[in-house]
Amino acid sequence: MAEKIARVTALREIAPSIIVLDAQMVEPATMEFKAGQFVSIRIDEKGDVRRSYTMTSPSSRNDGFELLVKMVPGGAASGHFGRMRPGDELRFTGPMGFFFVDAGHPGDSVFVATGAGIAAALPMALETPRKAKVLWSMRRDDEYYWTDRLAGLDWEKVVPPSAEWPEAHALLAERCAALLGSLRDPMFYLVGNGDMTRAVRDHLIALGVDRRKRIKNEIFYPVSEP
Ligand SMILES: Cc1cc2nc3c(=O)[nH]c(=O)nc-3n(C[C@H](O)[C@H](O)[C@H](O)COP(=O)(O)OP(=O)(O)OC[C@H]3O[C@@H](n4cnc5c(N)ncnc54)[C@H](O)[C@@H]3O)c2cc1C
Repeated sequence: MAEKIARVTALREIAPSIIVLDAQMVEPATMEFKAGQFVSIRIDEKGDVRRSYTMTSPSSRNDGFELLVKMVPGGAASGHFGRMRPGDELRFTGPMGFFFVDAGHPGDSVFVATGAGIAAALPMALETPRKAKVLWSMRRDDEYYWTDRLAGLDWEKVVPPSAEWPEAHALLAERCAALLGSLRDPMFYLVGNGDMTRAVRDHLIALGVDRRKRIKNEIFYPVSEP
């Protein structure tokens, strides 16, 4: 797939280790995408190292895009973004991915995110045509950001009293189960670490939710961190 080019226009740290980057398309001049899709960014000179980042700007914008980057200590992409300055180029492929809102689904939607998974859950919830509920887990209450963007949505913090992820996953699964009784034929969109998507998915399946038709998931990070 041919690479596209965008130029970084702004970078700001909105919370500890959370950077929001804005970029203007250069080649081609515009790019269309669906909320929830991502781009695969070249991290090294040769293009052997790539990492995926989800567009957080509205899909109505096509002259550029915004990304949210969680900085991981020692991470290849994290180091790359840490050195980046306005004016630098991003080379990437995409947009790609199938984790986007099913516009044909007639019922409600539940978006479940851990950590940086909110990068996909928030734009999707904002663009879903029907009733949306957002459940977002962080380990601690003081780790939340973007509460201003979430303000117009029906959303809940799900914070584990133990500050441990397994408890957060169990709480998210319980909240989803409880919503089955109050929402109309909900579709569940699960995004973040793989332990969470597995825990919530398995719980919903055990309760009779159709895995193929009513659960979509995107794994940002395979094991116990968001
Ligand atoms: C489809 C898709 C969309 C994604 N969208 C986003 C997005 O919008 N925003 C975003 O921040 N990330 C997103 N990710 C994750 C992103 O692609 C990187 O994997 C992540 O940012 C770490 O990259 P890195 O190169 O800095 O770390 P790596 O060099 O890959 O890893 C360095 C070390 O950090 C560990 N690590 C990796 N990720 C995490 C983590 N999240 N928490 C704790 N430890 C970690 C690794 O196990 C390794 O030990 C997405 C992933 C996928 C598959």
